[in-house]
Amino acid sequence: MENYRPFTEKDVVAYMQSFSQFFPNHAELVCKEIGDGNLNMVFRVIDQRSGQSIILKQALPYPRVVGDSWPLTLDRVRIEAEALEIQAHYAPGLVPKLYHYDEKFALVVMEDLSDHIILRKSLITGKIYPQIANDLAEYLANTLFFTSDYYLKSEQKKIKQAQFINPEMCKMTEKLVFTDPYFNAETNSFNPLIQRHIEKIWKSHLLKKEIAQLKLAFMTKAQALIHGDLHSGSIMVKENSTKVIDPEFAFFGPMGFDMGALFANILLSYISQEAHIANSHARKEYQSWLLWLIEEIWHRFTEKFRMHWAMYVKDEIFSVSGFVDEVIRETLQDTAGFAGCKMMRRVIGLASLPDFDVIDDQELRAKLESAALLIGQYLVLDRKNISQISDLIAVIEKVK
Ligand code: ADP
Ligand code: MG
Ligand code: MG
Ligand code: MG
Repeated sequence: MENYRPFTEKDVVAYMQSFSQFFPNHAELVCKEIGDGNLNMVFRVIDQRSGQSIILKQALPYPRVVGDSWPLTLDRVRIEAEALEIQAHYAPGLVPKLYHYDEKFALVVMEDLSDHIILRKSLITGKIYPQIANDLAEYLANTLFFTSDYYLKSEQKKIKQAQFINPEMCKMTEKLVFTDPYFNAETNSFNPLIQRHIEKIWKSHLLKKEIAQLKLAFMTKAQALIHGDLHSGSIMVKENSTKVIDPEFAFFGPMGFDMGALFANILLSYISQEAHIANSHARKEYQSWLLWLIEEIWHRFTEKFRMHWAMYVKDEIFSVSGFVDEVIRETLQDTAGFAGCKMMRRVIGLASLPDFDVIDDQELRAKLESAALLIGQYLVLDRKNISQISDLIAVIEKVK
């Protein structure tokens, strides 16, 4: 029996040819590695005769960007495959179709979405996709509600939770999002022009106590099956279609973590527009669309979440009047706190941020990165005073 090995493009072609269900017999397969993520290899395979194509994503036993000095479980592909199935069930049409999972070679074969583009890129180029507010709200409301204790039977939820114990991926988030950025850690990677601002963060005891609370919430608040890495690079869009990809970090965690990741990345785009759109009128217009997007996602999310609640919550004590309002308010406060952490980690920590990396003017970049740090801190520190989405927007608007 063959064992796991990282595939070359040639291996991928041979692998695909060993199955009859993906391509016709006389297919002329061409394969290209197209991955741009931090962790895995992504291959696109096209049949030059029929034009049919698929994506094969294979995990390496370490993070692609770090190298083999950091071992990382191949089980993340199982998590991705199983999460995709659940998400497809509850949020049909909003994730890529999964065709095949191979445990031995740690790979999935899925629908080719090359007619879509990564949301982050569309935001950098100032594009507007009106449908994403509703699509993302639906993805979030459905995947979160239907995997929570508000919907699942208590025993069923605990069994599902055990299926998604994802310790190594969680540990990566715990370290790179909630710990390292707040200390002078080796993994950090930042613009030296903002060293001063970062040192202030390292010295802020008050802030670090709040980060500690958020880290503990991430580790212990097993509310629902969350995506776990819902930044704008995990969303692909085209006119009338939105797809959420890459759920290898999925586990039962706090609902606000997904919403927070999403809002953080929309906000980082909002800040970076000062470098991307020269015309100030056009820039303001795009920035107000981005803030509108945050509000609209939130409004539509709560609308859908409340509808599910009214329809499906049967537990007598959960049904007590006013409880859903508390659940939603707490989710918003968590969202704000996690969004703040995600903003700061992109500036201080290991993960880079294409929205800022493409800025040539280093002084301007430093100014925008400092603004991101400031907004991130306010979101964390002020989150308990937030009770509606307009309060969260007001926190952002404090930094001008
Ligand atoms: P990683 O886990 O390494 O971050 P991703 O799943 O995010 O990998 O994929 C990396 C890149 O590969 C994406 O940014 C996108 O450009 C491309 N990609 C991933 N899945 C698909 C798909 N189903 N269709 C088309 N392109 C894809
Ligand atoms: Mg990715
Ligand atoms: Mg990934
Ligand atoms: Mg960085």
